[in-house]
Amino acid sequence: MHSNSLIELDRAHLVHPVAAYRTHEKLGVRVLSSASGATVTDMTGRQLIDGFAGLWCVNAGYGHESIVEAAARQMRELPYATAYFGLGSEPAIRLAAALAERAPGNLNHVYFTLGGSDAIDSTVRFIRFYYHAKGTPQKDQFISLEQGYHGSSTVGAGLTALPAFHAGFGIPFEWQHKIPSHYVYRNPVGTDPQAIINASRQALRRKVEEIGAERVAAFYAEPIQGSGGVLVPPRGWMKAMRDLCRELDILFIADEVITGFGRTGPLFACSEDDVVPDFLTVAKGLTSGYAPMGAVFMTDHVYNTIADGAGGSAVGHGYTYSAHPVSAAVGLEALRLYEGGLLENGRRAGARLMEGLQGLADHPLVGDVRGRGMLAAIELVTDKTKKTPLPAVADPSRRIFDRAWDNGLIIRAFGNGVLGYAPPLCCTDSDIDAIVDRTRKTLDQTIEDGDVR
Ligand code: PMP
Repeated sequence: MHSNSLIELDRAHLVHPVAAYRTHEKLGVRVLSSASGATVTDMTGRQLIDGFAGLWCVNAGYGHESIVEAAARQMRELPYATAYFGLGSEPAIRLAAALAERAPGNLNHVYFTLGGSDAIDSTVRFIRFYYHAKGTPQKDQFISLEQGYHGSSTVGAGLTALPAFHAGFGIPFEWQHKIPSHYVYRNPVGTDPQAIINASRQALRRKVEEIGAERVAAFYAEPIQGSGGVLVPPRGWMKAMRDLCRELDILFIADEVITGFGRTGPLFACSEDDVVPDFLTVAKGLTSGYAPMGAVFMTDHVYNTIADGAGGSAVGHGYTYSAHPVSAAVGLEALRLYEGGLLENGRRAGARLMEGLQGLADHPLVGDVRGRGMLAAIELVTDKTKKTPLPAVADPSRRIFDRAWDNGLIIRAFGNGVLGYAPPLCCTDSDIDAIVDRTRKTLDQTIEDGDVR
């Protein structure tokens, strides 16, 4: 179909996620039509390096025939099996077992969802059930971090702390509380790692005191805050927060929807930080975006408390597509590819990406370069000493995204002048070098065009 008619049809009928609808109607959709490795091609034939792996999800990269085969085989044999009524399918059982074996500590029980938002929703349901089972249902208050992102369901978006997800939606709920992020580049206590860890611990302790420890259920954190602008905490931050949660008798949930499956190096970022959370959520890289699926891991203790609490009754939480066999078959093959070399390639490519982006630190617009593995960001400022953010007028981020696009690069341009990177783990050296070179060109043009002064 001609791209103009697709643009018309899109404008008339397709409602896009997290979009300014009227602006989108004016600009029109950009239709992607094929992809291979780390390169995507649009309907006009333009080739771009996907520096964001779709929506930080195509960790394996595009065009893996073995994943296509696994999905096709499963669709032919058994396209659907409910996990209700005590039924199941081989790929879902095998995937749960494979994940439990690889997860840190005793996170041995896996509940499959359709993506990250319903994984987060599921944790809230399980946590409530858990405290009912323990006889302390008054523990029903939830805490998360400013700049955190935990999905777009009504409950998850309330734990999320990005204004666009709240405005006009009547959330967060009064049982959802926030404490400041570790945001190293702009932390009021400075950049000293221990001072930042201490400040976060103090903020959590104070918030729990304010609410009352007997009422607090759980604390949620991403190992690296993604949608908030790729905010990397100091090493040891997550462990310090995890330990404090134990001391305060509240559950700790690690939201690894972005950081899981090699994004920061290992399969799970928690392992690297020697952290075993009470719940761990994943999605995205679980299937590398080839099919929708997320998962909630819970520890033996949590699972057994819920199971015993329910007694002979059903735990009334489930989806039609929980443990979908086609997504599970895709997940098993993606896991095989990660362990068959992609994790290793990602670690190598990630080191090259960080080195390349560090090389942009001398650029007049670059205030901060941060990241871990294949997850990185640069934060743009107009004055490096004062850390002055880009002016919010006329959406400079959108224009930077467009300029990068014209240079053959897809990046995430966050509204606050942060550029995000999450390329596929399959990137070659030349892919990585092109990401860095095209970024520099884009930043130079941003100055030349007088967008920022
Ligand atoms: N948690 C985190 C940390 C995420 O980054 C996301 C998605 N970006 C979600 C939850 C929600 O996942 P989904 O979009 O698959 O519903």
